[in-house]
Amino acid sequence: GNGGGSRRARPNVLVTGTPGTGKTTTCSLLAEASALRHVNIGDLVREKSLHDGWDDELQCHVINEDLVCDELEDMMEEGGILVDYHGCDFFPERWFDLVVVLQTETSILHDRLTSRGYMGSKLTNNIECEIFQVLLEEARESYREDIVMPLRSDNLEDINRNVDTLSGWVNNWRPN
Ligand code: ADP
Ligand code: MN
Repeated sequence: GNGGGSRRARPNVLVTGTPGTGKTTTCSLLAEASALRHVNIGDLVREKSLHDGWDDELQCHVINEDLVCDELEDMMEEGGILVDYHGCDFFPERWFDLVVVLQTETSILHDRLTSRGYMGSKLTNNIECEIFQVLLEEARESYREDIVMPLRSDNLEDINRNVDTLSGWVNNWRPN
């Protein structure tokens, strides 16, 4: 159940982690296995222009966190949402029943990001983000320790095991 006293009938799950750790792959499979609705925040920001323009240096949109949270509020209240984003500190704490942090071995992540075309500071920033466990720390600072679940995502076996674990968790969840 959730500690927040919410009345949602289905849980909300956040999947976070450094870019390339497998959030979108994991969420797509988990959405099928659990019937949660996958919301990819990056896509949502682009589709609904929930940003304040393009950051040339970081090569990404400057996400407007308030607009994103306003856009999500109603569906999060309903429950059954699987949020996919490489950040977690600006969502209301009460939204989530489980916060998954995917983690990948540095050399494996390096190869994935390189094949995605990342280079220079964008590549090194993301590798450092993983080495220093930035997302795990951010999750632990933003949510109750007992709802934060770090999961390894180095290979396909890990993905399959994680989807099994998480769909089992979702199906066993009961509102309190
Ligand atoms: P994210 O959404 O976290 O940025 P993606 O799910 O888009 O990551 O994965 C990035 C790339 O790495 C994709 O090509 C994906 O197939 C691959 N990948 C992700 N996780 C794994 C894994 N655990 N094992 C093998 N390949 C993976
Ligand atoms: Mn993604």
